[in-house]
Amino acid sequence: MKTAIITGISGQDAAYLTKYLIKKKYNIIGTTRSYNIGKLSKLEYLGVYKNVIIEEIDLLDFTSILNLIKKYQPDEIYNLSAQSSVGLSFNQPIGTFTYNTLSVINLLEAIKIYNKNIRFYQASSSEMYGNVEKLPINEKTPMHPKSPYGISKAAAHWISINYRESFGIFVGIGILFNHESILRSKNFFIKKVIKEALEIKFGERKKLRVGNINIKRDFGYAPKYVEAIWKILQQDEPSEFIICSGVSISLKDVVYYIFDKLDLDKRLIEIDPALFRPNEIDDIYGDNSKAKKILKWEYSLSFYDVLDMIIEEELALR
Ligand code: NAP
Repeated sequence: MKTAIITGISGQDAAYLTKYLIKKKYNIIGTTRSYNIGKLSKLEYLGVYKNVIIEEIDLLDFTSILNLIKKYQPDEIYNLSAQSSVGLSFNQPIGTFTYNTLSVINLLEAIKIYNKNIRFYQASSSEMYGNVEKLPINEKTPMHPKSPYGISKAAAHWISINYRESFGIFVGIGILFNHESILRSKNFFIKKVIKEALEIKFGERKKLRVGNINIKRDFGYAPKYVEAIWKILQQDEPSEFIICSGVSISLKDVVYYIFDKLDLDKRLIEIDPALFRPNEIDDIYGDNSKAKKILKWEYSLSFYDVLDMIIEEELALR
């Protein structure tokens, strides 16, 4: 039986990954910055809360990480903890950069010192690419991040590769494009739009306020993306993999689709310039052929199918 540590256990991906690893008979230790039961509602929602040992730990504190690793002797560490909001990173650039990079060095340094056989997964992001000359993005595309979040993730990405190359640690990296589910936090676009559109439908809200909806993103389904995360650590050789759907869709198409599906009047959509970001990627989509070929990861969902699933799940909860 393998033991895995998953950092940022209260997050969306951590919840789905936990469920997936439990099916594979792993022991799971989940770390959180601060423990309270309500915060772990995503694990509860998936019915796996009782299967996880929760450890309260600050990933900026090296000694705590070392002690955690000594205590549980993990085979694998999935580093999913991060300040993960692009929008928030413009307001909190120092906190975002500090946390998203130092937490990664601390984990890798602890592995280096204590046991170099522990396999490490780093959650990289499509936001590292930013301005690109050519789409689709693949693993060799040069990076030009356009947000403090993207910059922090690019730095963490190269730190991770450096520990692989310098110390021979098995560092697997998933470069994930946006992926959504009912468990996404409500400050993220898709969850916000579905939630607020439903509130309009049920008479609890008057309008939907959105920022720049002309931009396009490559969106996927979180429960399928965590399968790739696990596969990345099961390879013979560590590498980095783009995990994406391969097509982009405009935020406007997403909003219009949700409004049509719920039979809502599109005049209730209000564009609010205050919600525009200082700097924005216009269009982004990736090439998932390396992941499909080497990981044998399968993905064929259209994002409209994903929206249907999330809306149905939200409706069932009402
Ligand atoms: P998430 O739901 O935001 O969860 C991340 C977790 O990180 C939080 O639950 C929190 O756990 C911890 N955390 C540490 N410092 C934080 C801070 N300053 N603010 C907020 N949370 C903080 O993230 P996710 O969507 O599951 O994504 C997992 C990882 O993949 C993240 O590293 C993210 O950057 C990356 N990623 C996500 C996407 C996506 O579309 N979802 C795409 C590419 C990459 P505790 O409070 O329990 O410590």
